[in-house]
Amino acid sequence: MPELPEVETTLRGIRPFLLGETIDDLIIRQPSLRYPVTSGIEQSVRGHAIKEVSRRAKYLQLHLDNGSMLVHLGMSGSLRIIEPNVDWKKHDHIQLKLVSGKALRYHDPRRFGSRLWSDEAHWQLNNLGPEPLSKEFDGDYLYSLSKGRKIAVKAFVMTNSVVVGVGNIYASEALFSTGIRPDRAAGRISRNRYNFLAENIKVTLKNAINLGGTTLRDYSNSAGDPGYFKQELFVYGRSGLPCKTCSNALAESRIGQRSSVFCPKCQV
Ligand SMILES: [Zn+2]
Repeated sequence: MPELPEVETTLRGIRPFLLGETIDDLIIRQPSLRYPVTSGIEQSVRGHAIKEVSRRAKYLQLHLDNGSMLVHLGMSGSLRIIEPNVDWKKHDHIQLKLVSGKALRYHDPRRFGSRLWSDEAHWQLNNLGPEPLSKEFDGDYLYSLSKGRKIAVKAFVMTNSVVVGVGNIYASEALFSTGIRPDRAAGRISRNRYNFLAENIKVTLKNAINLGGTTLRDYSNSAGDPGYFKQELFVYGRSGLPCKTCSNALAESRIGQRSSVFCPKCQV
C-alpha cells in the first residue's frame, strides 16, 4: 500500500511536470473507484492552469484557480508522467493531458483510490492531526495528547486525528527502535520516551523518503509502476523470525485489527 513516503515521493516526482501547466483534457476510462470520480470533473479542469501541487496526509492535491482535485492512491494506485499517446495498459484508468504535450496517467489494479473535485475545501482534509515531519509534531505533543488514554500506543500513533500518515510499517519500526511495546497503554508512557518515539517516527519516514528519491525517475517513465521502497525492516512482516538485535523470536499480536510484530525482549 502506498504509505506517506511513497505519496511524498510521488509528489516530488510529478510536481515539476505539472506546476504552471495548463490542462488540455482529463480522460476517465474507469470512474468507479472507491468513491466514484466526481461527475463533470472533466469540464471543471479543462483549460485551467495548475497553480500548486501539494500533499496532506496521504492525499495529493492539484490546485487550480477554480478549485482543486483531490487524489488518493488507495491500496495499489500509482501515477506517472508519460507521453499521452502511449498505449493504455490494463488497470490504467485516468489520464490528465497537459497542453505541454505530457500526460499524468493513473494506474490502479484494485481501484481503491479516489479522484474528487471540489471548488471549496475538501471535507476529507478536516480533522487531521499534524504532519509527522512538521515541527508541530514532537514528543511533548504526543505526551500531552496521551494523558489518561488506555488505547495501545501503536493504535494511538496510527490515529489520523493524532498524527497523519504513520502507517503500520512505520509505527511498528519506530516503536521497535524506541523499545516500546506496541500494546502498552498510550497514557502510561513517559514524556522522555515520547520524545524518542516522535524522533524515531520522523527518522523512519525520512529514511523511506530518501530511499524513494533514488527511484524518482520512475515517475516519468512509462516502463512500469513505481515500486514500494525496499528498506531494511526490523519487525514489520517478520513474525516468528529472530530479532536482529537480541536473536529472540519476534512475537505477533493484533492491535486495532492490525497485525503487530514486536520483540518481547527489546520492547517493554
Ligand atoms: Zn529483541
